[in-house]
Amino acid sequence: MKAFYDFHIHSALSPCADDDMTPLNIAAAASLKGLNAIAVSDHNSVKNVEAAMECGKDFNLIVIPAMEVQTSEDIHLLALFERYEDLLAFDQSLIKTKIKNKEEVFGNQLIIDQDNKIAGIEEYLLIAGVKQNVYETAELAKRYGGIAIAAHIDRVYNGIVAILGSVPKDLDIAAVEIYDENNKELRDYYSNYLQLFNSDAHRLQDINSAKHYLEIEEMSARAVLKAIKEGKN
Ligand SMILES: [Zn+2]
Ligand SMILES: [Zn+2]
Repeated sequence: MKAFYDFHIHSALSPCADDDMTPLNIAAAASLKGLNAIAVSDHNSVKNVEAAMECGKDFNLIVIPAMEVQTSEDIHLLALFERYEDLLAFDQSLIKTKIKNKEEVFGNQLIIDQDNKIAGIEEYLLIAGVKQNVYETAELAKRYGGIAIAAHIDRVYNGIVAILGSVPKDLDIAAVEIYDENNKELRDYYSNYLQLFNSDAHRLQDINSAKHYLEIEEMSARAVLKAIKEGKN
């Protein structure tokens, strides 16, 4: 069956995302747009993921436990897991830089529960690189049962190609994410990777429409990860 997806959506926890990117609003919007599988992948934090997974149940939506990690080189890697506990273990293995957030400069970082209520505010800035480099981060994702995906490889800011010059062949990633699906040259160059087309939405209206899909065996996080690992588009 087809699973229309968007595995790169920021909630209000990311300083750069709109405040109305609540777990409930994201699930509702994704469902309205006809998606079957999403991930709330905030920068360096998982604190809105559990609420998103709960909200997903009401909309028959697979919500993959995920995070967008900013590595020590400031490269963005998506890490996706089958189980929330594995994401938590991965999160705890990351050594984070503890700089206090300046809301007036970077934006606020809201922790929001499944009922759309503000449950807290993250005080440390989430858009600072962790101590692990891109290889170590990908290796940790795998160690905890997940997969790593190089995020927006065609973007200058925080894209691996701009920072390292290319996607290293020995980097253990399951897929590359391409921001501009019309970038034919880049797509041809990295045609040996599974290519995913996520939105990197920071606003509700930017969440993917039902266009890109994975062929999956059943509607579950396990089946989604299996499809990505096997590279089926
Ligand atoms: Zn990013
Ligand atoms: Zn992002």
